[in-house]
Amino acid sequence: MMNLIWLIPLAWLTVVSAILLWYRRELLAAWREPVLRHPVLIIESDDWGAGPVEAQARALHQLVELLTKFKDRTGRHPVMTLALVLAVPDGPSIRRDGRYHRLTLEDPMFAPVREAIERGRAAGVFALQLHGLEHYWPDALMASPDPAVRAWLEGDAPAITERLPSPLQSRWTDASVLPSRPLPPERIAAAVAEEVRLYERIFGERPRVAVPPTFVWNEAVERAWAREGIEFVVTPGLRSACRNADGVPDCDAGPFHNGLRGAGVGYVVRPDYLEPERGHRAERALAALAARTAEGRACLLETHRSNFIADVALSSSAFEAIHQLYNAALQQNQELRFPSTAELGDALRPWRVRIRAIRRFWRLARVSGLAWLLPLPS
Ligand SMILES: [Zn+2]
Repeated sequence: MMNLIWLIPLAWLTVVSAILLWYRRELLAAWREPVLRHPVLIIESDDWGAGPVEAQARALHQLVELLTKFKDRTGRHPVMTLALVLAVPDGPSIRRDGRYHRLTLEDPMFAPVREAIERGRAAGVFALQLHGLEHYWPDALMASPDPAVRAWLEGDAPAITERLPSPLQSRWTDASVLPSRPLPPERIAAAVAEEVRLYERIFGERPRVAVPPTFVWNEAVERAWAREGIEFVVTPGLRSACRNADGVPDCDAGPFHNGLRGAGVGYVVRPDYLEPERGHRAERALAALAARTAEGRACLLETHRSNFIADVALSSSAFEAIHQLYNAALQQNQELRFPSTAELGDALRPWRVRIRAIRRFWRLARVSGLAWLLPLPS
């Protein structure tokens, strides 16, 4: 009888160990992810830059005026990140000789857009990030058999990339055929060097954060970005490396957590959305902020320029949603903070550096193999 009673805690221990073992990856990842002291809210806004001139300039100025109305306790305005696209096709030149030509954000035609970006940057409400030289891989567009794509390429500039077929909006895979084909790593390296150099020429500094267009990229892209000084990559929590036969992002790796290291870059996770064109309102964003705050994580809300440059009814509802969001978020969270995504990435990093500074622990961790489980500073 005694023997049978002892079996009960043993069986329980076995079950508990099995559960821990089964979930070890998720548990370790959650344990390693730094916990933030204050609620953090960042609106991450993609696709700005080369494109429609007046509509973007107007929207960007309106955003500057809206965001400068709010401040956190430290006196900082809300930061909206702008993931920037640096070129669109030069349609008339493509018509002339049938080869690809680009019109970059340096062109005088885009001066009003650049001025609006710089105004928000100076006011501390815009933090600039790299989206891509183009929101597509030029050769994939040129190779596309779709007559609508050819017409788009040859149209009068500036073209609107949101109108391209979705698979072709991915920059880091060749989606001229489906399933898409990977790009040669040396071409990726050359394209990344080119886009970082152009970004630096336009904005006076290298980008620290990259936002992969349509979240399709691979390790070769990460390595190239890291070589050019990119420190952080924004991800929804996974990385898609291809477009599948249906044109949908696929070939996934992940899940990724905040502060996890990729090939020379650190990930920052952006799991939430504020897309008024899809019916999202401030309440949804506030619920996301409450959920992330409870987890000790930053709330990064994905949005796109299309919300702000569309017709008047839609864009005014988008500005209104942002106004309501900051109003309520500051009322509900006394300690709310507004860093940029790069600053958030910096805050996620010191934990890993500190671990190495505990020298005896680090030696033991290396000898015992424990270090293998810890995220290493690279
Ligand atoms: Zn985009």
